[in-house]
Amino acid sequence: TTDNDFLLSVEALTVSFDGFKAVDDLSFYVDENEIRVIIGPNGAGKTTALDLICGKTRATSGSIRFRGKELTAMKEHQIVHAGVGRKFQNPSIYDDLTVFENLEISYPKGRSVFGALTFKRDGVVTSRVEEVAEMIFLADHLEERAEFLSHGQKQWLEIGMLLIQDPELLMLDEPVAGMSVSERVKTAELLHRIIVGRSVIVIEHDMKFVEDIAHRVTVLHQGRVISEGTMAHVQADPKVVEVYLGH
Ligand code: ADP
Repeated sequence: TTDNDFLLSVEALTVSFDGFKAVDDLSFYVDENEIRVIIGPNGAGKTTALDLICGKTRATSGSIRFRGKELTAMKEHQIVHAGVGRKFQNPSIYDDLTVFENLEISYPKGRSVFGALTFKRDGVVTSRVEEVAEMIFLADHLEERAEFLSHGQKQWLEIGMLLIQDPELLMLDEPVAGMSVSERVKTAELLHRIIVGRSVIVIEHDMKFVEDIAHRVTVLHQGRVISEGTMAHVQADPKVVEVYLGH
């Protein structure tokens, strides 16, 4: 096998902040159609790892290959264009726009250089908006203003705003934080639905949710991988119990 068999190959990735290595010689590989969960104690480097992949933070050394393309030299918007979407913890939806409009302006051609809503509504966009709305459980809320959605619905809407751009890799930071139990169950269902033709990397602390979604789990500690495999495998790994799960 070569690296090109993976959707994403992270190799020997390191970033130092004033000499402190937040991510330290990190390597991991994500397959197509995979849900990968990254777990680990606070400060382990999970957020920094995703920041490096999406270009928000520049690596000190190492390589990130996505579909064979090296991402470390690319600018953030080029990485988005290459097919990598990232959702942060706080939703960045437009409160005064409807669900439909939020999805519409996120459609690749929907945003003008001024960020204004200048899109000519056409059938292709409308049907794609409806398709995504169905996927994120908001088909019956298209004309609702985003500010009136529940916390969980806002999170789904933001996932939808990324999905409409059809990324091949979607990265989510604690997607179920603050959600109700039923919203968590639906979010797991959503993730399993969307990995057809794409992969997802999730940072998560909720172990029940990790069990529901993860194909494989990567455990970080002090910027390095200390364990990797199925949830059952990492849960039984004494190193993981010692630094994380045993607490
Ligand atoms: P996690 O997401 O696993 O909780 P982070 O990636 O947020 O961990 O942080 C890893 C370590 O790197 C922490 O010790 C954090 O304080 C440090 N760190 C993260 N970003 C910066 C930065 N921009 N400058 C200095 N230190 C940073």
